[in-house]
Amino acid sequence: MSAGAIPPPPDSIPVPEAVRWVVRTLEEAGYETWTVGGAVRDALAGRPSGDWDLATRAPPEEVRRIFRRTVPVGIEHGTVGVLARDGTMYEVTTFRRDVETTGRHAVVAFAETLLEDLERRDFTVNAVAWHPLRKELFDPHRGAEDLRRRVLRTVGDPSERFAEDYLRVLRALRFAGRYELDIDPETWSALKAATPHLGVLSPERVREELWKVLEGDASPARALELYRVSGALREVAPELSAVAGGEEVGTPAWRSTLSVVERISQRRPALRLTALLGDLGAPPIREEDPPLPHDPGPAGSPRRLRGMMRSAALLTRLRHSNATIARISALVGAGPDLPRLDAADSDVRRWLARVGPGRVPDLVRWAAARSRVEDGSGPSPTEVAGAVRRLRGELASGVALDVGSLALSGRDLIRMGLKPGPHFGTILDALLERVLEEPEANVKDRLEPWALELARESEGG
Ligand code: ATP
Ligand code: MG
Repeated sequence: MSAGAIPPPPDSIPVPEAVRWVVRTLEEAGYETWTVGGAVRDALAGRPSGDWDLATRAPPEEVRRIFRRTVPVGIEHGTVGVLARDGTMYEVTTFRRDVETTGRHAVVAFAETLLEDLERRDFTVNAVAWHPLRKELFDPHRGAEDLRRRVLRTVGDPSERFAEDYLRVLRALRFAGRYELDIDPETWSALKAATPHLGVLSPERVREELWKVLEGDASPARALELYRVSGALREVAPELSAVAGGEEVGTPAWRSTLSVVERISQRRPALRLTALLGDLGAPPIREEDPPLPHDPGPAGSPRRLRGMMRSAALLTRLRHSNATIARISALVGAGPDLPRLDAADSDVRRWLARVGPGRVPDLVRWAAARSRVEDGSGPSPTEVAGAVRRLRGELASGVALDVGSLALSGRDLIRMGLKPGPHFGTILDALLERVLEEPEANVKDRLEPWALELARESEGG
């Protein structure tokens, strides 16, 4: 591409008045201050800017002295939160430079100049500063040009920059995906060579990065595909890499999965992650697998059960909360299919009893996303609509779907003269099975004789 084809940077970037006020206040106190990082990059890319971060020559204690309302959000790294009049908190960070790096984190010292501060930033597109009062772009590494040419490259030597902090490998994949950038060849080969070191990163940082892809990117498929091609997926989620087909060629199943993830709203990152892990049960049992539990929970087949256990193991390793692990792994176990159009009513109820009514909305959204992928891997929109109608009907009728909704309880069994014990669970499960078959049977008069019969059987057996 010839340089002439690249339009010049914009004359101006719209910056909120509150941010300009922070900059003005610091400059009037004698300290040079700029907006930097992601918000400037987003503005240059023509996207709405999120968090406006500021970089200043003022030391943190000066920032705290100058503003009335401040929060020491990351004071040890030189970051002070300044509460502006619009109620927003802006992060003001003193110019920094790296003193020592370990591959995992950096020891920083305060710096005198913005140039030093930009030098320690990871990619040229992230190393751009905008002065909102002077309307001046400071872009010593030509990040604006890279953004317009759609190139991602590190500031400085790529191998060194990745070795300083391997998280930059994953950040590169995210930015390249989100802004549709081609990774510069030198940066790309250094990135691929760095992937075997991703294991030094704390699982929490890897998890945060992955979530940024899932919730920050309207089209996460590109970044996720780069995870596979670069070899990063193999390091951070080997079980997923096995399903994806490794680095060479992606499997058709992986391509379908990415299309499904793409069709789930970014406001539902947990469901996107569910869809991403949805196929984990496909490979047969392997040595590294966690043991399968006796109670399959919402899983309807051995394959779904394996998927459930493998997702739980993966999410645990990446230090997700127990609530998230439980929610996602149960959905992986329960999904991805809704009841078939030709299913009997009792099968629809059995399906509901197994997956749990609370999971239906997410399972429907997942199925709807699959139906919009036109490779024949998912259900048709008609099938999804039909299943939704059937499920709504059953749910609206108020049929018993769990033991707690039976007309007969453990207490009733005691009243009937039965001796309490673990067989109560077996009896109630069997009653539920009959009620799922025939909802009208959920009345005391019908259930009692069955319960007595079941109790006799369990004594006899
Ligand atoms: P987003 O907020 O959309 O995730 P961002 O670019 O704002 O993207 P942040 O993590 O908020 O990313 O970081 C703000 C800025 O700090 C970046 O633009 C970059 O200049 C710098 N930065 C962040 N993390 C690193 C890192 N690991 N190495 C070098 N520079 C970094
Ligand atoms: Mg940011």
